[in-house]
Amino acid sequence: MSTPQHYEFQAEIRQLLDIVIHSLYTEKEIFVRELVSNASDALEKLRHLQLTEKEIFDDRLPLEINLTTDDAAKTFTIQDFGVGMTRAELVENLGTIAHSGSKAFLKALGENGAKGANLIGQFGVGFYSAFMVARRVRVYARSWRAGETGWAWESDGSGSYTIEEAEGQRRGCKIVIELKDECTEFSLAAKIEEILKRYSSFVQFPVNLNGKRVNTIQALWLRNKNEIKDEEYTEFYKFQADAFDTPRLRLHFSADAPLAINALLFVPDENPERLGLLRAEPAVALYCRKILIDPRPKDLLPEWLRFLKGVVDSEDLPLNISREMTQDRGLIAKLSRVLTRRFIKFLEEEAKDRPDRYKEFYRRFGIYLKEGAALDHTYKDELMKLLRYESSLTKPGELTGFADYVSRMPDGQKEIYYLVGPSREAIEAGPYLEGFRARNLEVLFCHENVDEYAMSHVHAFDDKRLLAADHADVKLGDLPAPPGEDALAGAQLQTLVTWLKETLGNRVAEVKGSDRLVGSPALALNADKFSSPHMRRLMKAMKTEGADDSPPRVELHLNPRHAVIKHLAAAREAKPEVAKLMAEQVLDNALIAAGLLDDPQKMVARIYKLLETV
Ligand code: ADP
Ligand code: MG
Repeated sequence: MSTPQHYEFQAEIRQLLDIVIHSLYTEKEIFVRELVSNASDALEKLRHLQLTEKEIFDDRLPLEINLTTDDAAKTFTIQDFGVGMTRAELVENLGTIAHSGSKAFLKALGENGAKGANLIGQFGVGFYSAFMVARRVRVYARSWRAGETGWAWESDGSGSYTIEEAEGQRRGCKIVIELKDECTEFSLAAKIEEILKRYSSFVQFPVNLNGKRVNTIQALWLRNKNEIKDEEYTEFYKFQADAFDTPRLRLHFSADAPLAINALLFVPDENPERLGLLRAEPAVALYCRKILIDPRPKDLLPEWLRFLKGVVDSEDLPLNISREMTQDRGLIAKLSRVLTRRFIKFLEEEAKDRPDRYKEFYRRFGIYLKEGAALDHTYKDELMKLLRYESSLTKPGELTGFADYVSRMPDGQKEIYYLVGPSREAIEAGPYLEGFRARNLEVLFCHENVDEYAMSHVHAFDDKRLLAADHADVKLGDLPAPPGEDALAGAQLQTLVTWLKETLGNRVAEVKGSDRLVGSPALALNADKFSSPHMRRLMKAMKTEGADDSPPRVELHLNPRHAVIKHLAAAREAKPEVAKLMAEQVLDNALIAAGLLDDPQKMVARIYKLLETV
């Protein structure tokens, strides 16, 4: 037996330990994660050596991690049969700052001059986190190399440590933590089990607590997908997402470039925001080699993918990745792009190969894709290809996409037309569709709340502008007048138009005769985009200061073949007072159809007056 030899910690380690020991960092439990991850690394290294080395000490030992708690002695012990350490390695690995997480921690500390406590959580301080809870730490280590002996390393975390020979050691590492009085909860099996479940459920080596296996759920995402049963996926999803449903869709994939990734993504059965109350929180967990880095990383996926559940594991991430460091942010951004592109590709395949299933997905989650198309420039083009709508050419309940719409466009059509309304029925009953139908032009029907907003933001598809069919910018080509019907003659129409402009005053921006109409006497077109029905409702609801209270200014289009318009022209000369009432009423009716009539009260009084004249 040799006598213990004294060593001083390197200055940086002393500084680090000082902070770790005296910090008031509350989540002390992360020390379990750090030690389990070290044990798992050591086993991984050994497994690798077994492939290349002929002679390994104690080669029969199982690759597993054993934790024991002793609440009488107030100790916590973790033991592995990994690579272990030689004396020189103990000095090098535990006495000097070899580890990137600790380095980053100290660097941030130097830069911020901060107290350190909150930085511990961000960077992780690896092995030294044990000193948050330990009065004394003993590390028994025996290297895998033949001809080595065992060693006992010991420290109370203040400045120095000792190393002495320890006989009878098996391969690997055993770390015994004597707990501080205020940390004795970590000598309770139940407490440790709870922590292990949270952070280390998917460690690939068996983790035993007091002789009982804890991590029974395997890292499903690393297994070959041909060997995984549906039930296993579902069980994993429920465990991981804390859910009770069966996932609607799943994507299990791996990639090697530009990053090594294994990912398993789930779409839940239902849209969690469907009641409009709760905003979904990002819930795709980030792992590095089966060790949890962050259960809810914020920037891993774009906002509009916040409904996804699952895990992403990348070997290329440092275990103590931080969102603050530019270098790490770059990695996360890269990871995000790979995941998002792959998920979009997956949806494209779904839409093509399993349209019915895609439709069901789209019915519940399409709103997120619309949001993404409108707001996320990076993925706009891909997302637009995934959007679906009913249209004037589909049967009720059937959906079509922009690409199909474009493929049906007749020669000469340059724009993509859509109409926003509360339902298909409402849109079809309005006056706007007639002119498009008569010209065989397809109109997309939008009846979700986000549609108006989304449509005006996506702006174009395939260089074709998206245009609301009730917008004044829409120019429809001439149609031959339906035979056998006499329209108001040009001069008569012109007089009527001039008179209407005068009579309706600033309620209209423009009045004109139109070919757009077939069965209706008149229609109103939005003269500017801010008076769209949706916008007006929004402004009214918010009662924004400076919101425009004046009636919307519209273009009024007249159907010169319609009986009502012909009557109006006749009344203008014969009964000017009644004609005035009629003119106002024609405009109000058009506004109702446009969803733009703000105040129906006046109209009721006017109708009674009109009825008196009949
Ligand atoms: P990191 O794990 O990021 O390298 P740590 O501070 O957690 O940093 O550990 C420092 C070093 O100590 C490790 O790199 C490893 O070389 C060594 N070490 C820690 N735990 C073990 C263990 N159980 N078996 C073998 N070596 C270990
Ligand atoms: Mg570590």
